Amino acid sequence: STKAINWNFNNSYVQLPSIFYSTLRPTPVPSPKLVILNHKLATEIGLDVQNLLNKEGIETLAGNSIPDGALPLAQAYAGHQFGHFTMLGDGRALLLGEQITPMGQRVDIQLKGSGPTPYSRGGDGRAALGPMLREYIISEAMAALQIPTTRSLAVVTTGEGIIRDAYLPGAILTRVAASHIRVGTFQYVASWGTIEDLRALADYTIGRHFPYIDTDDHPYISLLREVVKSQAFLIAKWMLVGFIHGVMNTDNMAISGETIDYGPCAFMDTYDPATVFSSIDGKGRYAYQNQPSIAGWNLARLADALLPLIHDKEEEAVKLAEDILSDFSALYHDNWLSGMRGKLGIFNDEPQDEDLIQELLRIMQKHKADFTNTFRGLTFEEGDDTGFFETPEFKEWYKLWQARLDRQQESKTSSHQLMRGFNPSVIPRNHRVEEALEATVKDGNYGVMDRLLNVLSRPYGYSPQQEEYTKLPEPSNRPYRTFCGT
Ligand code: AMP
Ligand code: MG
Ligand code: MG
Repeated sequence: STKAINWNFNNSYVQLPSIFYSTLRPTPVPSPKLVILNHKLATEIGLDVQNLLNKEGIETLAGNSIPDGALPLAQAYAGHQFGHFTMLGDGRALLLGEQITPMGQRVDIQLKGSGPTPYSRGGDGRAALGPMLREYIISEAMAALQIPTTRSLAVVTTGEGIIRDAYLPGAILTRVAASHIRVGTFQYVASWGTIEDLRALADYTIGRHFPYIDTDDHPYISLLREVVKSQAFLIAKWMLVGFIHGVMNTDNMAISGETIDYGPCAFMDTYDPATVFSSIDGKGRYAYQNQPSIAGWNLARLADALLPLIHDKEEEAVKLAEDILSDFSALYHDNWLSGMRGKLGIFNDEPQDEDLIQELLRIMQKHKADFTNTFRGLTFEEGDDTGFFETPEFKEWYKLWQARLDRQQESKTSSHQLMRGFNPSVIPRNHRVEEALEATVKDGNYGVMDRLLNVLSRPYGYSPQQEEYTKLPEPSNRPYRTFCGT
């Protein structure tokens, strides 16, 4: 029974005014089959793995059976998509409910691909197996890299085909998140709700994510400040591992500070700040190097939505908000710089550090060095496959770097120790992800994905098992491309 699975729902989102959601049940699917279950995460959130693996458990993960205490709903939100504001909402996802974990945390349990909703705008409400597994792999890799992210609990196939460019197997991903409140949720209520509705969402968000600011003199200003801080932290983390989100629309920015919505994201291999993988981002709006400024732009949209709560007089509100927003780039830069110091084994601050870092990046770009392997090579004092370490420019830089390390008290051993915590040996390389998806989706061979997930679960440090996954793909004439919304 669902009782034995230990679902422990306590649903607070439904207590918000009704404009924030529509309650509805998932659309049943003909024959759900489990493709992957995250045993560790299931246990962490208090679920009984054995019972989750039973027929009843799988029916729940497919939306065919609603566990006791769940109250499925689609959340309403809006968003700027590539700069254009529009109404959105969960068009193919449902919040099952909020699970209270054994540690007392509240997490959203969301089914993605669970059928049409009032917000589907003509879409079928479904998702394909490949993209749901892709989200599973990359979100779990991000979690292991210690980057705030939504998590993936399970993927089931539905037994139904869905129509895209081709006929594809349908699937449902169970997503676990601190919440699914987005910048776009605030934009939605600011556009179509009352100020009471807006205040209700802001108060709810403070209670759920930032309870410690509740008693501040100006809690809504503090709310903006906290979101600015957590995004400055998050985006720096992305940049430091070469993660490119790919579709940083305001509906895909979570107020919790978690990375959300793994559509066309991918990790950069060759270092080039202009890297874009998404097939729909021809202008490079969401290119690697643009991510910090786009985050700043998105935060300004959040500030716009919060203005009526910040001050009665709009002019005053704008001034107060601008004051907070103007801190974003410095906060981001501090996070990034301290992360880069970590990547280079630097413990203390010298004013010239940034030049040292920029010079390394400049020559990496010039020589098309691999981002991850360059830092891994420095960490473990290994060569690199591309010959970058043999170039005179690198050798020149290396001397400067060694001199920098010599000027600090800590030993080289300590530096390398520090670097191990900042420089992953393995990331979900695009060709490895594609290989795993192809084996699973086309051939029903899950072994390739299991091995990849296993290696990605311990991305830092050094192990022989990692070696194969650090290799670059065969050179290709075709640039790697990713796709949204399939
Ligand atoms: P995304 O690109 O995944 O962030 O989605 C943008 C918007 O499109 C969200 O409102 C989604 O719920 C909606 N959407 C994406 N795919 C579908 C689909 N197959 N059916 C209905 N809505 C969808
Ligand atoms: Mg989205
Ligand atoms: Mg989505």
